[in-house]
Parts: sequence; structure tokens; C-alpha cells
Amino acid sequence: MAHKYCYLFSEGNATMRELLGGKGANLAEMTNIGLPVPQGFTISTEACTKYYDDGRKINDEIMAEINEYIVKMEGITGKKFGDKENPLLVSVRSGARASMPGMMDTILNLGLNEDVVAVMAEKSNNERWAWDCYRRFIQMYSDVVMEVGKKYFEELIDKMKAEKGVTQDVELDANDLKELAGQFKAEYKAKIGEDFPSDPKEQLMGAIKAVFRSWDNPRANVYRRDNDIPYSWGTAVNVQSMAFGNMGDDCGTGVAFTRDPATGAKGLFGEFLTNAQGEDVVAGVRTPMHIQEMEQKFPEAFKEFTEVCKTLEDHYRDMQDMEFTVEHGKLYMLQTRNGKRTAQAALKIACDLVDEGMRTEEEAVAMIDPRNLDTLLHPQFDAKALKAATPIGKGLGASPGAACGKIVFTAEDAVEWADKGEKVVLVRLETSPEDITGMKAAQGILTVRGGMTSHAAVVARGMGECCVSGCSAINMDEANKKFELGGKTFVEGDVISIDGTTGNIYDGAIATVDAQIAGEFGRIMAWADKYRVLKVRTNADTPADAKKARELGAEGIGLCRTEHMFFEADRIAAFREMICSDTVEEREAALAKIEPMQQADFEALYEALEGCPVTIRFLDPPLHEFVPTEEADIEALAKAQGKSVETIKNIIASLHEFNPMMGHRGCRLAVTYPEIAKMQTKAVIKAALNVKKNHPDWTIVPEIMIPLVGDVKELKYVKNFVVETADAVIKEAGADLKYEVGTMIEIPRAALTADEIAKEAEFFCFGTNDLTQMTYGFSRDDAGKFLNAYYDAKIFENDPFAKLDQTGVGKLMEMAIKLGKATRPDMHIGICGEHGGDPSSVEFCHKIGLTYVSCSPFRVPIARLAAAQAAI
Ligand code: ADP
Ligand code: MG
Ligand code: MG
Repeated sequence: MAHKYCYLFSEGNATMRELLGGKGANLAEMTNIGLPVPQGFTISTEACTKYYDDGRKINDEIMAEINEYIVKMEGITGKKFGDKENPLLVSVRSGARASMPGMMDTILNLGLNEDVVAVMAEKSNNERWAWDCYRRFIQMYSDVVMEVGKKYFEELIDKMKAEKGVTQDVELDANDLKELAGQFKAEYKAKIGEDFPSDPKEQLMGAIKAVFRSWDNPRANVYRRDNDIPYSWGTAVNVQSMAFGNMGDDCGTGVAFTRDPATGAKGLFGEFLTNAQGEDVVAGVRTPMHIQEMEQKFPEAFKEFTEVCKTLEDHYRDMQDMEFTVEHGKLYMLQTRNGKRTAQAALKIACDLVDEGMRTEEEAVAMIDPRNLDTLLHPQFDAKALKAATPIGKGLGASPGAACGKIVFTAEDAVEWADKGEKVVLVRLETSPEDITGMKAAQGILTVRGGMTSHAAVVARGMGECCVSGCSAINMDEANKKFELGGKTFVEGDVISIDGTTGNIYDGAIATVDAQIAGEFGRIMAWADKYRVLKVRTNADTPADAKKARELGAEGIGLCRTEHMFFEADRIAAFREMICSDTVEEREAALAKIEPMQQADFEALYEALEGCPVTIRFLDPPLHEFVPTEEADIEALAKAQGKSVETIKNIIASLHEFNPMMGHRGCRLAVTYPEIAKMQTKAVIKAALNVKKNHPDWTIVPEIMIPLVGDVKELKYVKNFVVETADAVIKEAGADLKYEVGTMIEIPRAALTADEIAKEAEFFCFGTNDLTQMTYGFSRDDAGKFLNAYYDAKIFENDPFAKLDQTGVGKLMEMAIKLGKATRPDMHIGICGEHGGDPSSVEFCHKIGLTYVSCSPFRVPIARLAAAQAAI
């Protein structure tokens, strides 16, 4: 049997989203549950994959099947492409497995030509509508299929409106629109060199190809990378009979959520526009009315719609985001999906659904995207400072959060300024999908036009970025990069603050405070802790970080980078003396100065961790990183050591390495300078003994971690004098203390020989930053230079330093765990690379049986949630 690529809406269902995409699967599901859906069919994601495999061509087999389904569709709707009695008009809609709002393309009113317009105008006795559809179609087709910029058409519309002395599209009459359609066709011919296609089937094939192609457009690629959506998935194409919201004042179109996507509050939330078509609401062409107003204008349709909302929410057991159209008072459902929401709303909705008996705790935990929690962990405006400030304007609180920064007016400027380290707020008339990278670079987005479901609002909520939309009081002059608000003129670089919750806009900067885990956030995290198996530790080098991480739920320190304790000015001097010593005696003298500082730091860490495990990694980086570069610093060091500037400079020069990341660092330092490791051992053990004395009820088992081991003999050599030193200190104190000596697995050879290494190492911790760098053989500091080319060439879909390479690096990890545990079955094994806070990597860590993940303090809640999701 031939492969099936097309499915009528009546042939699919919600479980088929891999094949039909989210939109197609849900159109099928809504059809199945008897909701009013304009009928059509879905061309599967497999057809898209095939299109790419075949060198961006729709092959004959698929083409034939599409033609077959057009006939079926004509049968179901009783309409026909190009018909003189009852012409079929369709939308051609993209729809991937995971929703990617606004990232790909859709074409409406396809099937029109001069003959069909005439038929439609006559049969409906509504000439204006017929021409409105046609000019919209030419505009969309030219833009999406032929890539003639929409701006040319918008200019023609603006010109027409100016000539007619009107401001709104709806004020143009049938003749104006007819005239416009003519101008559009001429524009098309001028740009493309051919007549605008009049054959509906030719139009359809062009549109289908364009939707497939849109899967690979730059903004879709960026969106996918940010949202972990594989390129290989492809998009489905939905060919759907049109419902017309633009036939007059008893028609309209809207989008609505069953709960507030910004706060999560239960209740219908959305916008409606009379005499309009789909895109008009989202594009912010006119400011739409609140959905509740629809009740007065369309009582019947509104009643039906609220019933549909309940049906859908009960059916999907989640907040729904819906698109619908009213044609002469009759309701048509065009889309439903689990609505995108802010992190705050996600938590509230999940808790409410549990309380409403719709979801279990486990399901509630699984519903939250861990990556979104990030926004909740970032600073909010200080309540006092906020109260004291007077807003200079107000828009819609479209996406919560606090943003404060310098004003920029274009997406390009936002990127450029952010690259220079500036915090910026992007202020635009309205945003469009091309602005996405600029929006990401900004702290927040402020728009003049557009409602709660405008592009800016939807995208900002998706990114967890603060957004205030639709502040119509702004008198914008985009061309000259300035605007007026509250009687003041703002220019590029002026600082403003915006509150994405209230929609308030403030002149100048407002103080911010750290976020807290409370309320619904606390409830979800408690559930997460109940169901997860993986422990979550933190990477913390200072007591302040450690305390923060404890507040955020860390159960220990997985990595304390001891060298980070020496960046402060008053400490670096002693450290430099240590580095620039010529003899063991000199070095020991310098180390004696350092030891009490280290010990004090370790004590503070143990105190902050209240008896939870603390892994301390011994000195790791190339020493050259710490030497002075300024002449004055060099002189000071020379003086302190009683050496000549000349000598110091020679020592510094001798520390130079061609490839420092693979040079004299890690355990190699301990091998060449045992006195450093000895000093660190003393500091660790003495600190533990002291804290234990004060807190006899705490279990304190110091974990000493030797970095960058590649051969068990290196570890054995270092461990010997570490143990000797530790035991001596313990004995001298007349105390009793258990401690562990383990190693990082961050060199491929260590993973390969983990059975040998485990004979000496009492625990492992995967240092996946180095392990990734060494496995791939490229430097983590330089990868940024070529990664973009790798993304463009589809060699990489993600940065392997952010998202663990499970195929290669992951294989080494699995091997090391297996080998290590064969030697030492009860050893604990963790991960402390950047990946420990990345949800998909955390899931992998759970799967391969790690004991814990360790990540930066602000990632701890994300890791807790991801760990729970992996276990559920
Ligand atoms: P997106 O994924 O960007 O929302 P859609 O495919 O959902 O793109 O379509 C864009 C707009 O066109 C939406 O507002 C949608 O409701 C509207 N639309 C799509 N298909 C139809 C149709 N058959 N009849 C009327 N409006 C439609
Ligand atoms: Mg849509
Ligand atoms: Mg390392």
C-alpha cells in the first residue's frame, strides 16, 4: 500500500500530533467531539520531511494524494475550487508538533481569481467582502509564497487610505479594495515578472511548499533552538475551508484563553474584532475589543463559545488558547491548544487544576516547563520603591516581570547594545516576528499598539520576558528614535522602567529585589521534591551563593571552585606570591598566609550548608590566569617578595603556556606542588572539625575532589599525601572525622578507565564542561566563534556546552558509571558541569542513574523540577 500522507480532519485525533502537528491533531479532535470546525485535511509532517529529503520538492506521489484529498474536501464542503456556483476558498496553515506561534506561515483566502471574485460578489451580494478577501490573498501569497516584502503592499494601502481620507482598513469600500487588488497584482508582476497565478491548484501547491519552506526560516530556527524543538520534526500543513469574519458587522474573529495567560486566574480572557479576518487581531491592525463585549454584539455565538470553552477545557484538562470566527452570527472554531502562559500563570493553573480535581499532583508537576521558572527567580521591583514611584503612563500588563533599561527603538539596536553589556528596553509601535532576536536581547518590551494577544505579548510570554503592550498614550516617532509620554520626550538611551504585571511605565530606574519561592511556586516545588529521585546540589564558591542556593532548595554543594576565592583584591596578593615563588620554602610561606583565609571560607560554607554535603575541588586553573599584568601590580609583588621586577617578569613569562586549558592545571598542579594540595587539605579538615565542634548534630563528611585526573596513578599519588595530611590534622586535634577523596571525571581517559580510577576515588563527579571540550576537542572559550556556522549548516542544533551531548559525552558518562560502580558499588556520582541545570540534561542524568546534579544557585529550582519530571 502506498504511504499515507494526507488525513481528513475526521480521520485524525489529538494523539496524532507527531504526524499531524498540534494544530492538525486538535482540529481533528475538535471535529471528533462535534465542535463546529470548517472542514479540510492535514498533510503530515512526514510529507514535510520527504519534501526536504527530496531536495525541497513535493514528489508525484504526495502531489497525487493531495489532489485526491482536494476532491474529498470538495465533496464534504459542497464547494469546488474555481467553481462558478459555489467556489471553495481555503486557508493553508502551518502546524508543527510543538506550537511555534507566529514563527511559520499561513495563507488565507486561497482559491481566488478574477472569475471567482465576481461569483462571490454576486452570490453574496457583498462586493466589498469579495474584494477584501482577494486583496488580502494577493498580499499574503506574495509575501509568504513569493517573498515579495509585505511593506510594498502596506504602502499601497496607506496611500489609498490617505487619498480617501480614512484611517482604518474597514473604512475602504468595495471600489477602493477592487482598485487595491489591481494595484497589488501590478506590484506582483513588477516584482516577480509574471502574472499573479489564477489557477487555485497552482496556488495551493505554491502555498504548501511555502509552508514547508517556512519550517526552515531564520526566526523558526532561532525559536526551535531556544525551545529544544528538533529540526527533524518538520511541520504539517492544514488545508481548511475558510470561515469569513470579514463579511460585515455581524461577523468577526477572535482569540481567547480559558484562563488568564498572564496570571492564571480562571475565566474567559481574550479579544474580538468585528468585520475582520484572522491576522488582524494578532497583527494589531486595529485595537480589538475585550471578549466580554462580544456578549452584547453576538449573544448567540458568545453563549455557544463559552460552552465550547468549557467542553475543551474539560476535554484537554488544561487551559486552552483558541481561535474562532463568527460568520453571520455563526461560530466556527479554528484552533485550540494548551495555551502558552507565564511562569506565574503556569504555577497557578497547575495548582488550581489539582484543587479542581482535574489533575493529579504528578500531572501538575509535569505541566510546568522548568525553563520558565527562570523568570520567577529573577528580581522583581522593590514594592516600596514601586509605591513611591509615579507612573508616567500605562499599557497592558502583557507579560509579567520587572524591566529597567535604556530605550532602544529597533531590534537591531537592542542586540547591538545588549552585546555591549547594556540593559535595554525595546520600544516599538508594534513588534513583528522579525524582531524576535532583539526582543530576546532586551530586558523588556514596550509597544504602542496591540492587545494582550498581539505578537509582542505572545512572544514575550513565551520567552518569559517582561512586556507592556498597547500603550496608546505614547506619541511615537520611530523614524527619529524618540517618543513622547506623560509630557516628556524620551530619546534613545534614556532609562525607563516597565512593570509587566500592572502595565505601568516609569521614568528612570526603579530598585529591584530578589524573588522568593512561596505560594503556588512553593507548592509545586514541594510536590517536585516528593517525586524526584535525583538529588540537587549547587555550584557555589562563596558563602553568599551557598546561602542563596540553600534558600532555593539545594541539598549540598557539588562543586566549590577554590580558586574563585582568590579573585578579591586583598587575597590575590598572597596568591600571587605563592605562584611566583622559586622555592618550596617561599611557596610554603605564601601558602601559610592563604590557609587561614581558605579555612574561614570553608567554615562559612559548612555553616551555610547546615550539615549537607560539601564537595571542595582543589586548585584547578592554569596558574598563569592569576599573574599580574599591570606594571604597578608587578612592582608591588616584586617588593613583597624581595625580588627584582626583572625576576618576577621572568617567572611570569615562564608560566606562559601555548594551550593552557590542556596545560599545567588540575591535579598536575598538585603533582608538581604538593604543598598547595596539602595546604588545601589542612584548611578543609580544620574547617570541618571546627564547625563540627559547634554543631555536633550535623553530619559533616568533607568531600575532597581532585580535578582533571586522567590516570589512576595521578590520583593515587595526590591522594596519598592528602590522606597523610588529613589524618595528621585529625589526629592532632584528637578528633574523629570521616572524609572522602574523590575525583572529577572530565578527561575521556578517566571515563574509559573508571574501574581503575574507582579503586582510589571514593566518589565521582562529572565535570561536563571540560569533558565536552575534551571529547569534542574544541575549546569552550572559542566555540562561540564557529557554533553559529554549525547551527546554520545543521551540524549542531544546540550548544553542546549548554545541552549535554548525550550521544558522545553521555556515552562516556554511562560507561564511567558502569565501570566505577563495578569497582565501588556504593559510590556517589554527580555532575557539576553547566549541564546540571539544563532540564533535558537533568532528565538524562536521572536515566543513567546519577546520585545528584549540581548547578548554579538560580538553576536549583529548575533542576528540582526537571528531576521530578524525569522520575514521573
Ligand atoms: P498562526 O499559527 O500564526 O496562528 P494560523 O494558521 O492559526 O497561524 O492562522 C492565522 C490566522 O488565520 C488565525 O487567526 C486563524 O484563526 C486564521 N485562520 C486560519 N484558517 C482560517 C480559516 N479556515 N478561516 C478563517 N480564518 C482562518
Ligand atoms: Mg493560530
Ligand atoms: Mg574542569
